[in-house]
Amino acid sequence: MVKLDNRVAIVTGGSRGIGAAIAKTLAAHGIKVVINYNSNSDAANQVVSEIEEAGGTAFASQADVSDAAQARVLVEETINRYGQLDILVNNAGITRDRTFRKISEEDWNQVIQVNLNSVYNTTSAALAHIQQSDAGRIISISSIIGQAGGFGQANYAAAKAGMIGFTKSLALELAKSGTTVNAICPGFIDTEMVQAIPDEIRQQIVAKIPARRFGAPEEIARGVLFLCQDGEYITGQQLNINGGLYM
Ligand code: NAP
Repeated sequence: MVKLDNRVAIVTGGSRGIGAAIAKTLAAHGIKVVINYNSNSDAANQVVSEIEEAGGTAFASQADVSDAAQARVLVEETINRYGQLDILVNNAGITRDRTFRKISEEDWNQVIQVNLNSVYNTTSAALAHIQQSDAGRIISISSIIGQAGGFGQANYAAAKAGMIGFTKSLALELAKSGTTVNAICPGFIDTEMVQAIPDEIRQQIVAKIPARRFGAPEEIARGVLFLCQDGEYITGQQLNINGGLYM
């Protein structure tokens, strides 16, 4: 088991939903957390306050991680503040759901840029630092949609499947160094992203989930914690946390 106290993690999109739950869970186990966000500084500062009130350490850092230069600044800020980086959680993501005929070039590019190219941006900026850690972790929040596809989600599915291919390839390259690289594939998790789905469709989705409920963000966060703490020999994997929806 890895000692987590005083390790340092960046959580991209850590201001809301799954990312906020990951940030709070890691901080509750002694990890210093950088809460990255793009536009909503109030939400990010709220997560920092909650972590500090609970006795943890965190700061908020604005960066659009779809932009390579901003991703580099995020990593630089982390090193300036905490002097090291052990864990990168690539969580920032967006959807622009439409059936394929209606997906514009902009919808396509935006989703690939924010969900997939951001993973290149943050990982390439962070890698040299993470490799100095004796328990380096790169964890990307992919999706069940990247495994099974999704109606009206060709752009999102392509990005999320791309994260899985990236994970396996980088895991091969880094395995000898002790840095592990994994993806978590959530099913439908009760966040603003899923709350935006029309009610009738939400009910249809729940009816198909063997567990008969949406997941909670904390259930994804516990997967991240497990990989950080107990995952020394787990690399290149997809951890499916989906209530049995995809096996
Ligand atoms: P969410 O509630 O919509 O939160 C998205 C987060 O990403 C926010 O913190 C947002 O920050 C941040 N973000 C968006 N664009 C960004 C950018 N360009 N740079 C930096 N941060 C950015 O989403 P969620 O449901 O928690 O999902 C989190 C991750 O899990 C996503 O990658 C999503 O695809 C994946 N996922 C979600 C589900 C689900 O059912 N919810 C299922 C499978 C996978 P701002 O508010 O500041 O923009």
